Amino acid sequence: MQKSVFDIIIIGGGPAGSTAAIYLSLAGFSTALFEMKSFPRETLCGEFLSPEMINILCELGIMEKFLQLNPNPINFFSFYNNDERYLKVPLGFTAYGLKRGDFDLLLLNEAKRAGASVFQPAKVVSIKNESGIYSITYTSGGEEHSTHAPIILAAYGKQNYLDRILGRGFTQVKSKLNGIKFHIPNSLVKNINEHTIYLCSGDNIYCGINAVNEETITVCFLENRLNDNTPPRTKLKQFIKQNESISEFFINEIDYELERLPIYGCGNIYFGNKILAQDGIFFIGDAAHVIAPLAGDGIAMAMQTAKLISEIFSGSGKNPLSRNQTEKVFIREWNKLFRKRISLALLIQKIMLNNKLRKLSYPAIKLFPSALINLIRFTRNAA
Ligand SMILES: Cc1cc2nc3c(=O)[nH]c(=O)nc-3n(C[C@H](O)[C@H](O)[C@H](O)COP(=O)(O)OP(=O)(O)OC[C@H]3O[C@@H](n4cnc5c(N)ncnc54)[C@H](O)[C@@H]3O)c2cc1C
Repeated sequence: MQKSVFDIIIIGGGPAGSTAAIYLSLAGFSTALFEMKSFPRETLCGEFLSPEMINILCELGIMEKFLQLNPNPINFFSFYNNDERYLKVPLGFTAYGLKRGDFDLLLLNEAKRAGASVFQPAKVVSIKNESGIYSITYTSGGEEHSTHAPIILAAYGKQNYLDRILGRGFTQVKSKLNGIKFHIPNSLVKNINEHTIYLCSGDNIYCGINAVNEETITVCFLENRLNDNTPPRTKLKQFIKQNESISEFFINEIDYELERLPIYGCGNIYFGNKILAQDGIFFIGDAAHVIAPLAGDGIAMAMQTAKLISEIFSGSGKNPLSRNQTEKVFIREWNKLFRKRISLALLIQKIMLNNKLRKLSYPAIKLFPSALINLIRFTRNAA
C-alpha cells in the first residue's frame, strides 16, 4: 500500500522540485514529489544552462550522466540591437544548451534513485492546513487521493492556480510580459554558430537564440505586449522581417514553417517579489521569484534555492529549528544569495524593453563593448 504520510511534500518536478527531492532524500527525509505532467515534457525556457547549475550537478554526482545527454557547449555571446550587431565576445565560461525535456527528466530520475516517492502524473489540486499538518489532494488516473506532511515545498513554477488557493497577492497582477519558445530545426536556420548564444533586442522584445543539439535551435523571446494583441508566431515573424541582421539567421521559408512548429508559452509573467515562506510552506525556484530570462540563470537559481532549503532542514537535525525559525533563516539566506542579482537583471530587462531607455543606453555599449556581458555576468555572481 502507498505510504500517505511523509516528512516533506514537494509540489512540482522541475529543476527546483527534483533537486530538492534529491538532496532531502539523500539526507534521510521521507519525501513525496508530485508532478502533474508525464516526462519528458517541454516547457517555456531559452534552454541556456549556466555554469552555476554545473556545480550542483557535480556535487550530486550526476555531471557524467548530464554529459551523456550531449549538451551543446556554449562559450560565445553575440548581441544584436535591431539591425546592428553590437558585440561578439567570449563568455569566459562554458554554458550548455539542452532541451528542458531531457534535462528535467534526468533530475527527476535522480530523485527517484535517491529514494524520493515520485507521483506522476499527479496534479495537486488543494492544500489544507489541519492543525499544523498539511493535507494535499491530488488527482491521478482520474481519481482523487490525499497525502500528508508537516512541511510543503512549493516548486510548481512561476504561476499556478495553487497561488490563488494560498492567497498570494501577485496573482491579480497583469504584467503583459509574455514568454514564447520555439524549437526550430537546423534546416531552417543559417549563419548560426552552435557555440554562441545570440541575444537580440528590438522594440518591446528581446530574444535568445542558441543550439540545444545538432538538429535543434531554441528561439525564445520575452515581449512586452502593452496593448498589442499580435499572436506570438506573427510577432516572431515581424521581428525577423523588421531586422535585417536577424533575418540573416533564418531561411526565407521561415514564415511558412513557423506556422507548423509547436509553441511553448506563458502570459503575464510576474517578475516582482513574492512571499517566500508561509506557515510551513516554502516556495522554491520560480514559485519564490522569477529572474529576468536575459540572465540565463533561472534553472541554476531554482536548483540553488532547492539546495538552500535542503541544507537548512538537514543542518537542523540535532537542534531542530521551529517552523518559524526555519522560515526566518530561509528568507534571510535567500535574500543574501539572490536579491542583488535579481534586481540587476530586472533593471537590465526594463532598459531592454523600454524603447526610449534602450536607444539612450545602447551607444554606451558600443563604446564599451564588454559592458553588457559583464553586467549580465553580475546577474549571476553578484551574490
Ligand atoms: C522566456 C523565458 C526564458 C527563459 N530562459 C532561461 C534560460 O535560458 N536559462 C535558464 O536558466 N532559465 C531560463 N528561464 C527560467 C527557467 O525556465 C525557470 O527559472 C525554471 O524553469 C524554474 O524551475 P522550477 O522548477 O522552479 O519551475 P518549472 O520548471 O516551471 O517546474 C514546475 C513544475 O511543476 C509542475 N506543476 C505545476 N503545478 C503543479 C501541480 N499543481 N501539481 C503537480 N505538479 C505541478 C509543472 O508541470 C512543472 O513541471 C527562462 C524563463 C522565461 C520566462
